[in-house]
Amino acid sequence: MNSGNKQIAVIGAGVAGLLAAVHAAELGADVHLFEKMDRIGLKMGITGKGRCNLTNSAPIGEFIAKTPGNGKFLYSAYGRFSNTDLLALLRRWGMETVTERGGRVFPKSEDAQEVRRLFMRKLEEAGVTLHLSDPVHHILTEDGRAAGVETSRGTWAADAVILATGGKSYPRTGSTGDGYRMAAELGHTVTALRPALIPLVCSNAYCRELQGLSLRNVTLTVAAGGRRKASLLGEMIFTHFGISGPIVLSLSDQVSLWLSQGYAVTGEINLKPALSEEVLDRRILRDLAKFHLKQMRNALQELMPHRLIDVILHMSDIPPELPVSELTRRQRANLRYAVQHMPLSITNTRPIEEAIVTAGGISVKEIQSSTMESKLVAGLYFAGEVMDIHAFTGGYNLQAAFSTGWVAAESAAGQGGTYR
Ligand SMILES: Cc1cc2nc3c(=O)[nH]c(=O)nc-3n(C[C@H](O)[C@H](O)[C@H](O)COP(=O)(O)OP(=O)(O)OC[C@H]3O[C@@H](n4cnc5c(N)ncnc54)[C@H](O)[C@@H]3O)c2cc1C
Repeated sequence: MNSGNKQIAVIGAGVAGLLAAVHAAELGADVHLFEKMDRIGLKMGITGKGRCNLTNSAPIGEFIAKTPGNGKFLYSAYGRFSNTDLLALLRRWGMETVTERGGRVFPKSEDAQEVRRLFMRKLEEAGVTLHLSDPVHHILTEDGRAAGVETSRGTWAADAVILATGGKSYPRTGSTGDGYRMAAELGHTVTALRPALIPLVCSNAYCRELQGLSLRNVTLTVAAGGRRKASLLGEMIFTHFGISGPIVLSLSDQVSLWLSQGYAVTGEINLKPALSEEVLDRRILRDLAKFHLKQMRNALQELMPHRLIDVILHMSDIPPELPVSELTRRQRANLRYAVQHMPLSITNTRPIEEAIVTAGGISVKEIQSSTMESKLVAGLYFAGEVMDIHAFTGGYNLQAAFSTGWVAAESAAGQGGTYR
């Protein structure tokens, strides 16, 4: 391993590590990429439900806004390698992409495996030495700077080390959180780890009854301690344990934080967020008039999905068999209220292993945002989810991994960074 070129060890052949390894090698470094699994990019292969939502077409300001976990720290990395840079690179590499609703960008093949194969080819072309099934246990230092890695097969000397071991979720993909320990051994602070983009556990029995039912154009509001509140309009689904789906995942970061702070968290679903109380009342009266010879159970199918009717009637204290003609004004008010305020008692998130992304990680205060270099250990660089960064769904997490991987590679290879 000694050609006179810079020797770089990259730990983790995930999204960030793969781009970092290829780019550092293209810049002339001798790169050794260590991966604990027997294949590269296992998590990449399951992203975007197997379609790989590579990035988003939104402007960079939107990326920062969609990154509740230290978005501003990424400004500099996005300035150096943005979503348009990524798309231009993929085009040069021969991969076509398509942009879908919400600016989400996917490979045209809609196959995440194509992205893995592309990186496999680029590793070979760039001359990266790939060490599969070779977990790194420790980062070696000498005189306060990174000097190599210790793996299960021995030690490797290097001028620079890029730590790209990912978060702690979906451990079967290899992301088991090893990087946190390795960084902590060198004095880095690891902020509290918790799941983000995670389904929520609710104690309400009706969630289980409605399991599999998805709702569109509803508002979910979550609240803690009276004053803390957040709300989103969109799609969600009931599950055997509670709730999931896009708006649930997006609100889950907030909920996970409140729960970790010890707050009791409640939620509310508004099935008709576009209607004022008066308009909803008129709508209900119209339906009741139309179905005036029926029982209540059979009078609401135009207002809500069939499976919801009994649940909403129960919440409104209305027997499902009640003839429509016997509904009291009070019961109608109850019904109106239940449609716009379905209560949820949120007791927990699903475990971190099931999270799309890990909140928390290596403190960004100890990382140079323009180079991704450690402020504590010279020659040590970080890339991807191992850092305390996390974003919403929409391609923002992959772009964060790509951008930080790119910058770490340039800095470690001594191009545009502060390589010492
Ligand atoms: C189901 C799912 C779907 C997702 N979909 C999307 C999506 O469509 N778009 C999006 O933007 N984000 C998505 N994400 C999030 C995204 O996948 C991650 O944020 C991203 O993969 C982080 O990249 P990374 O390189 O930091 O870590 P990873 O991709 O997790 O890679 C880390 C690598 O390091 C290796 N490793 C760990 N420890 C060691 C060790 N000790 N030695 C050697 N190697 C080690 C691991 O095996 C792994 O290969 C999804 C996540 C999940 C779980």
